[in-house]
Amino acid sequence: MKKEEKVDVIIFGAGPAGLAAATKLGQNDKKVIVFEKEDQVGGISKTKEYKGYRFDLGGHRFFTKSKEVNELWDETLGKDFLKRPRLSRIYYRNKFFDYPVKPMNALKGLGLGESFMILGSYIKVKIFPSKEEKNFEQWVSNRFGKRLFNHFFRAYTEKLWGIPCEEIQAEWAAQRIKGLSLSSAVKNALFPDKSGKIKTLIDEFKYPKYGPGMMYEKIAENVGKMGGKIFKNTEVVKICHNDSQVESVVVKDKSGKEKEYKADHYLSSMPLTLLVQSLSPDVPKEAIEASKGLTYRSFITVSVILNGKNPFPDTWVYIHSPEVKMGRIQNFKSWSPFMVPDKKHIALGLEYFATEGDDLWDMKDKDLIELALNELEEIHLGKKKNYIDGFVIRVPKAYPVYDSTYPENIKKVRNFLDKFTNLQPIGRYGMFKYNNMDHSILTGLYAAENILGAHYNIWKVNADQEYHEEDKDN
Ligand SMILES: Cc1cc2nc3c(=O)[nH]c(=O)nc-3n(C[C@H](O)[C@H](O)[C@H](O)COP(=O)(O)OP(=O)(O)OC[C@H]3O[C@@H](n4cnc5c(N)ncnc54)[C@H](O)[C@@H]3O)c2cc1C
Repeated sequence: MKKEEKVDVIIFGAGPAGLAAATKLGQNDKKVIVFEKEDQVGGISKTKEYKGYRFDLGGHRFFTKSKEVNELWDETLGKDFLKRPRLSRIYYRNKFFDYPVKPMNALKGLGLGESFMILGSYIKVKIFPSKEEKNFEQWVSNRFGKRLFNHFFRAYTEKLWGIPCEEIQAEWAAQRIKGLSLSSAVKNALFPDKSGKIKTLIDEFKYPKYGPGMMYEKIAENVGKMGGKIFKNTEVVKICHNDSQVESVVVKDKSGKEKEYKADHYLSSMPLTLLVQSLSPDVPKEAIEASKGLTYRSFITVSVILNGKNPFPDTWVYIHSPEVKMGRIQNFKSWSPFMVPDKKHIALGLEYFATEGDDLWDMKDKDLIELALNELEEIHLGKKKNYIDGFVIRVPKAYPVYDSTYPENIKKVRNFLDKFTNLQPIGRYGMFKYNNMDHSILTGLYAAENILGAHYNIWKVNADQEYHEEDKDN
């Protein structure tokens, strides 16, 4: 096998985290190589182009409280970074409801009779709350009552995770629904926040003219200008170590040819589970077993071009309707009008959550398109006869699953990886963390700073249970 000349840092994956790290290292004159297994950079935040139409995987609001991340984004795109109004609602019982759930709006939409039942269920939970708040159902029900939970949390959450709400950790709810409860919502409705602070956070966000991929293509281009090398279609398949350090990596290109590369430091944004399982020689059984206990949820986006007018002004809607499998609809014209070249057309991402290898994941593309169009018509948000063209994108390992075994398993994996002095996991699936782009980027930047002499604990990024922007909702 061919061996290559040693560099300063090797990065696994050219998503936001890997590219941010490569940028920081390039700015500090480090010799960097990034290996990316796909033919495109950007990871989950890439944009797929199809016949001139652009499709985001999910939808990516650029919003952060971090000055460093904002600077990186702004400097990279300048005027091509649009400011977009934020609107994304829940679709349920053929009606739109506010998201995050605003109880007053929900009560209005569900009618007087149901509102009384919801209030009754809320009073009941206040008198007899669930003493434990370990799982998602207990956490939400204690704040909203069981009935509102059943309307607005259960169906979508179970579509997303593919497991009952009783098995989802409360930690995820705390991240997602920060500072909200039925009583605080009623208080806010009567005495609105006049500072305008929260309002600006959730009313507007930034978005690249041609989708998020534009940002990361440009960052990759800048990495190249600083001397960094990005090898696409090249997968890290083996990580050779001596128990305390990584010594080299073996990568495989599309033709199956393998090469070995060496560096002083290694940053990994490949899935944490696969990182552990790719170490050679094999690592202790306990670490392997713990990594196998960590699971991810994936998603499928059926990307379609349709004739007709914008079905709704929202960038996306959450499909809470339990009668269909569809979980969300992205509406790319609302994200950026530049994504859809023909004014007479709309472009939608009809999204399904799945687990790699399950029936939905393995369904043929044409059947998935058929299912999605039928469901779109069933919930009255589009007509099958308006379909022009489409394709399917499968996004593996998009969501780390915070199930009941995850705290113990992640602890074991982290303890094990801590012994490697020159290897740092970064990013979203790279650290098995429900990170937005900004937090993924921060882990990349801090890991790069560590190589330059800093002492950041990157596991602390996005770690405080209650530290999250008010509108984290992907
Ligand atoms: C549906 C959805 C919607 C989202 N919406 C938002 C949003 O609105 N705002 C926001 O800020 N964030 C959002 N996010 C989060 C955002 O997508 C991620 O935080 C970000 O893309 C993670 O960056 P990353 O570099 O850690 O990982 P990724 O983007 O996953 O990139 C990792 C890269 O590593 C590559 N790779 C994997 N294995 C290997 C290997 N063995 N060898 C070489 N390369 C490898 C992959 O191909 C990939 O390119 C959303 C996520 C999802 C799933």
